[in-house]
Amino acid sequence: MKLNIPATEKPRVVIIGGGFGGLNLIQKLKKKKFQIVLIDRHNYHTFQPLLYQVAMGGLEPDSIAYPLRKYISSKGKDMFFRLCEVEKISPEEQLVKTDKGELDYDFLVIATGSRTNYFGIESIQKNSLELKSIPHSLDLRSLLLQNLERALMTDDKDERAQLLNFVIVGGGPTGVELAGALCELKKFVFRREYHDLDMDELNIYLLEGLDRLLNGMSEKASEKTYSYLEKLGARIRLKTMVEEYDGRKIEIGEDEVIPTYNLIWTAGVEGAFPGGIDKDNIDKGNRVRVNEYCQVKDHDNLFVIGDAAAMISEENPKGHPMLAQVAIQMAKLVGANLNKSIEAKSWERFKYKNKGVLATIGRNKAVADLPSIKVQGTFAWYIWLFVHLMFLVGFQNKLVVMMNWFIGYIRYNSPLRLIIRPFKRNNDDS
Ligand SMILES: Cc1cc2nc3c(=O)[nH]c(=O)nc-3n(C[C@H](O)[C@H](O)[C@H](O)COP(=O)(O)OP(=O)(O)OC[C@H]3O[C@@H](n4cnc5c(N)ncnc54)[C@H](O)[C@@H]3O)c2cc1C
Repeated sequence: MKLNIPATEKPRVVIIGGGFGGLNLIQKLKKKKFQIVLIDRHNYHTFQPLLYQVAMGGLEPDSIAYPLRKYISSKGKDMFFRLCEVEKISPEEQLVKTDKGELDYDFLVIATGSRTNYFGIESIQKNSLELKSIPHSLDLRSLLLQNLERALMTDDKDERAQLLNFVIVGGGPTGVELAGALCELKKFVFRREYHDLDMDELNIYLLEGLDRLLNGMSEKASEKTYSYLEKLGARIRLKTMVEEYDGRKIEIGEDEVIPTYNLIWTAGVEGAFPGGIDKDNIDKGNRVRVNEYCQVKDHDNLFVIGDAAAMISEENPKGHPMLAQVAIQMAKLVGANLNKSIEAKSWERFKYKNKGVLATIGRNKAVADLPSIKVQGTFAWYIWLFVHLMFLVGFQNKLVVMMNWFIGYIRYNSPLRLIIRPFKRNNDDS
């Protein structure tokens, strides 16, 4: 198989990854000056911040995804999309090697994001669920609904505990948002729809290794989040490490055992990128070390942006946080600099403009650390709604999501709790 990209006189920019970084780079590049080739293993862009709402049945998967081919075809003629997985790059030969063939480039931008980090714990990797993609969120949705249905049909108290204990590991934004949404589902929906199930048996645990939730945010945001979640009924355990999970129970501390079939791992992410990058250029967290132009050492035409990039400086000894804004701003910088390279103008250096960090816990409950002000509660929730709608790709998606939120808000319900694609896991003996 071949990628069949037509030869061109123009410089060819190959972009691996149609996430926040990849799409914003395309937006910025001067389309007439370059041939642009976008490669992604999926034919759609995923708006990851709303994955948890798909998992909790609040949104349809289609409303947080956008077809990459549609995006590319709306931007110009000398632009191509190829659905394939990049396995390796060869900076020396200026080649990208995919599972469908090879392609040479003049400029290569790696925007491949991140993957779940299990810190080498195989049992957790094998038996837990993660939340990094739309298929993951559908798995989680199905598992949740299947296990509630199963719990109705067993008289075995121990088994019911395994089915109805939901344990989220990792008190970062994803863990907190999932825990909040699950608590609200239990409170507003499950109590009504599963009237013949004792809802006091359904427990939502949130386990965090550090001494506070949302460690990347202000103390105030952490405290508020804790109290919101506690009021919603979440069982929060701080300074609690999970070191093993056999798919049936977890042991925490000296004497606490939580029987559970449902462990959702949101405790870490690490950079993800194809092979071929020199080991010396890979930093902690499996991210590629880049300079202030997002270039990889010794390769002026090789750039890494977004979650996969570690731009280490005195100000940011661990690199920038893995946030959409970092990917967007890096993409804009690389796009602007590539445009300048054609015009022989000097390049700009990356300077991250912090636009704030947000997390939502539930209805009218969010925390927002903005550069000028830190707010919590209803106002923060409105900010959260507005920002997420703004950055969602596609007008139709914005409308659908807005409608779903509105209906869900006034009716305390959503109609999306369907087991379309049943989830089967390794140790499922049903
Ligand atoms: C559940 C969740 C919630 C989040 N919430 C927030 C939030 O509220 N606010 C915030 O700022 N950030 C949030 N983030 C982080 C944010 O989504 C990322 O920082 C951002 O997506 C990074 O953009 P990126 O372009 O680097 O990578 P991504 O957006 O992850 O895109 C990477 C793309 O590369 C493709 N790809 C990867 N490897 C290959 C390969 N080898 N070959 C071909 N294609 C490949 C993938 O299919 C994907 O399309 C969240 C992340 C998750 C998982």
